[in-house]
Amino acid sequence: MKDPYKVLGVDRNASKDKIQKAYRAQARKYHPDANKEEDATEKFKEVTAAYEILNDDRKKAEYDRFGNVGGYSTTGHRKPFTSPVDDFFSSMFGAGAVRQARGEDIMIVQEVDLMDVLRGGDADIKYDVNELCKSCNGTGGEEDACSHCGGSGSKIIHGQAMTVKTACPACEGTGKSISKACADCDRGVSGTVEQEVNFKIPQGVEDGMRFALKGMGHPCADGITGNLYVVISIKKHDLFDRLPQGNLLCRVPVTYTQLVFGCEMDVPTLDGKVNFKIPEGTQSGTKFRLKGLGLPVFNKGGGIYNTGDELIQVDLEVPTNISEEHRSILKNLAAIEQGEK
Ligand SMILES: [Zn+2]
Ligand SMILES: [Zn+2]
Repeated sequence: MKDPYKVLGVDRNASKDKIQKAYRAQARKYHPDANKEEDATEKFKEVTAAYEILNDDRKKAEYDRFGNVGGYSTTGHRKPFTSPVDDFFSSMFGAGAVRQARGEDIMIVQEVDLMDVLRGGDADIKYDVNELCKSCNGTGGEEDACSHCGGSGSKIIHGQAMTVKTACPACEGTGKSISKACADCDRGVSGTVEQEVNFKIPQGVEDGMRFALKGMGHPCADGITGNLYVVISIKKHDLFDRLPQGNLLCRVPVTYTQLVFGCEMDVPTLDGKVNFKIPEGTQSGTKFRLKGLGLPVFNKGGGIYNTGDELIQVDLEVPTNISEEHRSILKNLAAIEQGEK
């Protein structure tokens, strides 16, 4: 931006009166009605924009301090809360000028059991959100343009290699500050109110997945309501361990003779018991696959990819407390095993 002092031809200590006089003289000189020269209109706009700064105590102070003023543009047309630098940066990065105020996000951990993962489910989530103060409409008091950034919401940091624009730390980019705090609240919040939302638990959902419910967070005066983030925590199941790709593992204890002779038994699945046959001569730790009896696999695009399998792992359980009869049979067995060596 052009130096408004130079544009009006006054020095930095010029009085208000002197600034006004200088403006009138310049404005008369370049007024488009009087001056038909090609650049007169542009000059007139420059002079007017410079006067708008120097005639306004707040803007003048801001210019003196930061060398820039929000709302000032050398082309003369005023855009609230934008500066020529904003225009430059937004053309480069597509960034907006003043950041819109946004309510805080809320994060909630939702416990989900494997049955919900299998079939999908829903949970009524109750939580507290901020209640905006009715006295000040949630603004927190009388608002003024932030004195730190002059209402532009941003700060320009001039580095050696490049100039960087960041959100103003004083007003967090909103461009506003409270000049007189409201007596009925704490920064616009008068209390909390319970909110309830029905969350649809998707099939195949996994531990740690996070779902955003837009606009269900804390409200905000004159801005966007924050989001509610539901973070999934899968409850541990007594019988099943979750494996990747929708597979489930179920460990089934079996006896030595069941492994040696094979047997039929009922094994648990998430959908009830199924009859299962262990073949003769099975080794301890062997896994058997029950196709399609695992969990659905979550699909980001909606629905599920496919369904995993349940793995049955047969583990030999060694008896620790045995009867006399049992003991004598096992002794015979041991003798046979040793004699065979
Ligand atoms: Zn209030
Ligand atoms: Zn600020």
